[in-house]
Amino acid sequence: MSSVPQTDNKILPVKSNGSLASLLNTKRQNTIAGNDRILHLTGLLQTSLNAEEIISHFSNEISPLIAHDHVNYVNEKLDINFVIGSRARYSLTYELTINEIRLGILSFSRNKKFTDAETGELESLICALHYPLRNALLYSEAVHAAHKDPLTGVGNRAAMTTTLHRELEKAFRHSRSLGVIMMDIDHFKKINDKYGHSIGDFALQSLVECAEKSVRISDMMFRYGGEEFVIVLPETDETGVLRLAKRIRRRVEKLEIRIQGHSINITVSIGIATLRESDDEKSFIARADDALYQAKRDGRNCIRIAM
Ligand code: GH3
Ligand code: MG
Ligand code: MG
Repeated sequence: MSSVPQTDNKILPVKSNGSLASLLNTKRQNTIAGNDRILHLTGLLQTSLNAEEIISHFSNEISPLIAHDHVNYVNEKLDINFVIGSRARYSLTYELTINEIRLGILSFSRNKKFTDAETGELESLICALHYPLRNALLYSEAVHAAHKDPLTGVGNRAAMTTTLHRELEKAFRHSRSLGVIMMDIDHFKKINDKYGHSIGDFALQSLVECAEKSVRISDMMFRYGGEEFVIVLPETDETGVLRLAKRIRRRVEKLEIRIQGHSINITVSIGIATLRESDDEKSFIARADDALYQAKRDGRNCIRIAM
């Protein structure tokens, strides 16, 4: 391990091969008390599969030994940026890796310099984070994958249900508006029939890419069914939802899908709804769906607002 870093400019690597022996057998922890502490800490951290909870436990457990005012854990791949407290003047920052797998960047800060002894202690204790954190991240990746549509990369219907539940709660609790866009490709069956299923698949991917660029909140877009997509828009009123829907409709209409020498055009019909007090998740989506079907009945490639 390296010397004491007092600024964020330096990120120290903390590597582990994952074995408990290597964890316990460091110079500093080669005491019964030190080993007990590590074992206790590892045991405690293994009780959770949530990375943020693990970092919280870790911070609580080590604070009697190494006082700190602030913790920040960042894992860019999984889009985690977890903060406890507010950043202070002196910090220690570590890159955590286990068997070459990057687990993220962890930093601690406070307004008093960290001593060499504290740094050494912290570096030993951080090793106890490796296994529990790796397991939590693997779990989180698996959950993430289970909620993703493999073809287009957007959330699947299960993810939509979870997001809608959360966003409805938030909107009601804070009296904020919530919008939803439901869109369906027009006459998509003809595209499959004319060009084949794999080109149809490519058209679906192209549509998603085009819509994502138009709304810039990709994590709120979901594949509802075959060629039907839902976009959830927090804190967006009817005017805002309509503006986005118009932008998407126009851009999709202009989109040229070029593949295998073909240039394919598609259009979408769109239904939009904004949350009402009387809505629940089902009625909210059902109203957008009704509006979508009205758009289909009215000739397609158009937008209708839910009653
Ligand atoms: P409408 O304008 O009324 O929506 O007509 P449509 O042809 O788009 O609607 P319909 O429901 O009749 O057909 C949907 C088509 O979407 C049929 C199905 O083969 C196609 N589809 C659904 N999922 C996929 C997919 O994952 N890949 C491809 N290539 N096609 C798909
Ligand atoms: Mg369709
Ligand atoms: Mg459809």
